[in-house]
Amino acid sequence: MTYSLVLTRYGDLNIYHSSHTPSIQLKWIKETYDTVRISLHQSTGISLTHANVYLLDEAQYIEILSEVVGIDLHPEWTQGVAYRPDTSYDGVVYINKVMSALWTTSTSEKEKHVWRGENVEKTTRKVAAHELTHLALMPYDIPSWLNEGLAQLFEQGQLDSDSLRLDRPDPKALKRLQHDLRGKRPLRLADLLRARQEAFLVMHGPGRTSSSRHYLYSWGVVYYLTVHRSLLTRQALDQYVDRRADRPDPIKRFERLVGMPLAKFEREWRAEMLAL
Ligand SMILES: [Zn+2]
Repeated sequence: MTYSLVLTRYGDLNIYHSSHTPSIQLKWIKETYDTVRISLHQSTGISLTHANVYLLDEAQYIEILSEVVGIDLHPEWTQGVAYRPDTSYDGVVYINKVMSALWTTSTSEKEKHVWRGENVEKTTRKVAAHELTHLALMPYDIPSWLNEGLAQLFEQGQLDSDSLRLDRPDPKALKRLQHDLRGKRPLRLADLLRARQEAFLVMHGPGRTSSSRHYLYSWGVVYYLTVHRSLLTRQALDQYVDRRADRPDPIKRFERLVGMPLAKFEREWRAEMLAL
C-alpha cells in the first residue's frame, strides 16, 4: 500500500504526515519537541539537535511497525516507537495519529470515541515526549531501565513556561510504586538493572500506557536519581557513552554511578520513595 505524506518543517524538526492531519496536532508535537529538548539539556546535558517524526494514519503506522520495525508487540506499540535500523543512521520517530488504547473485543465504539476525545492531545504530547527522549538517547549505550526511566520522566514532566518541571512526581505512578514497594514481593533492583528490553514488553489495558512493573520501577529509580540526587548529569552518563569501554556487570556499573553498594542504595531509595 502506498501513502502520500506531506512534510511540515519547524526549524530542525521535520514532521511527515498525511495532508488531512489537523494542524493543531502538528503544533502539539512541535511544542513537545521544544520543551523536551530544553529540559533534556538542562537536566542531563544531552542534546537533541534535530528529529524526523512520522505522524501516521493507523493503517500505515501498523504496517510500518510490522514491516519496517519488525515488531508486532511492544508496550508502546499502539502509540509510537523510536527506531534506528543501525548506528550509522539517524533514528526516526513513528507516531500513530489515531491515538488509541489497546482495545479489547468488548470495548464499544462509544467508549473508544469518549476515550479519544479526552486523550488525543494528552496522548500526542506524552507519546511524542517519550519517543523523542528515546531518539535523543540513541547515541548512548545505556541500559533499558535508564532509557525507559528517562523517557517516562520527560513524558510526565509538568509544563512550566518553556521547560518541564520534573521535580513533582507523577501522583499515579508514585502511588502504584509505593503500593508495590509495600507489597509482599517488590521487584528487586538487581533484577531491574539486569533486565533486558524484553522484560519491558507487556500488553496494556485500555487507557494505560503500561502495566509493567519494570516500567514503574525504572521510572522510580530515574526520578530519584535525577530529582533527589542530581546524578544523571552528562558527566555521569558519559561512562555509558564510550562503546569501547569494557562493560562491567550491570550491578557494578550502577554502583559506580551512585557511588555506593546496591543494597545500601536500595534501602535509601525505598525509604525516600515511600516518604514522598
Ligand atoms: Zn519507551
